[in-house]
Amino acid sequence: VKSKRETMEKIAALIRRSASAAVLCHMHPDGDALGSMLGLALALERLGKRVHRVSPDGVPPPYDFLPGSRAVRRRLPRDLPPLAIVVDCDGLARLGPLARRTGQVAHVVAIDHHATGKAFGALRWVDPSAAAVGALLSELVAALGVPFDREIATCLYTAILTDTGRFSYTNTTARALRIAARLVQAGADPGAIYQQVYETKSLAQAALLGAALSRLSTADEGRIVLSALTRADFAATGANDSDTEGIIDQIRAVRQAEVAVLLVERGGEVRCSMRSRGRADVARVAEALGGGGHPQAAGCTVAGPLARARKQAIRLIAAELGPRA
Ligand code: 5GP
Ligand code: MN
Repeated sequence: VKSKRETMEKIAALIRRSASAAVLCHMHPDGDALGSMLGLALALERLGKRVHRVSPDGVPPPYDFLPGSRAVRRRLPRDLPPLAIVVDCDGLARLGPLARRTGQVAHVVAIDHHATGKAFGALRWVDPSAAAVGALLSELVAALGVPFDREIATCLYTAILTDTGRFSYTNTTARALRIAARLVQAGADPGAIYQQVYETKSLAQAALLGAALSRLSTADEGRIVLSALTRADFAATGANDSDTEGIIDQIRAVRQAEVAVLLVERGGEVRCSMRSRGRADVARVAEALGGGGHPQAAGCTVAGPLARARKQAIRLIAAELGPRA
């Protein structure tokens, strides 16, 4: 605990003496990646810093309501700032095409909560017990002496809301709820944020969810519940790749599902999202397939075709689940 506190203080000191910084998040960003990136960026601006908000895949809806999202760029500036703070990434590779140049920044700081991955950055604050990077940043913002305002609170609350699965996964701890409460006190509006994140689906997105749910299959005596989306599904519904967000949680809702899997055809590759009810550690499965994540929520990208990816995932998950009790 003491060394984590010391690391946070070191990061705060580095921020104080840097006039500018880039804050970066991972490819295919989720609510924690974007909320954390944008919340930290606002806090640095309150300290008078020049801040570059960088997301390799931009800001997909529904997260474009977040304060500061319009300032987000897909690339680093031509003149690299002296400081790059990389959030929610369990490896530099999660930055995709931006990994190489980010590695050239003088001071690279990693703030993360994954137990998987490949260490990077001279200064690393990685706490797998944190529900979201947004929860860690709430502590950092306080340490920096920046008062929470409605905008910062909205970003960080969104990070915690989404990474706890709307306050439903086992990472929904008293600590996470206490931080969330502080953010609500500072002006984050739970009802409004919930609607923005979860109830602004396009008709195409709802149709894509319908396609996924109309084609559920099971494996390992029903303990694994799967669905798959092909390019034909995207064409038929008019949905795009970021419209798959949230579908996996609906699959996990099936009672007997120990593990839910959503496979999405993407070019010659297959994107694999996994959610566990708690018995299986899906981060280990994802890691074995070149990805990563958390024990209850993980993902990876594997070679196609779909049928091969499905077989591979089932074999590894069944092994991870072990024999039936
Ligand atoms: P999702 O299924 O929502 O895409 O991802 C769930 C979790 O797994 C997130 O915490 C995310 O950071 C992690 N994750 C998803 N895909 C990858 C991947 O390709 N590589 C790594 N290292 N982590 C991933
Ligand atoms: Mn996260």
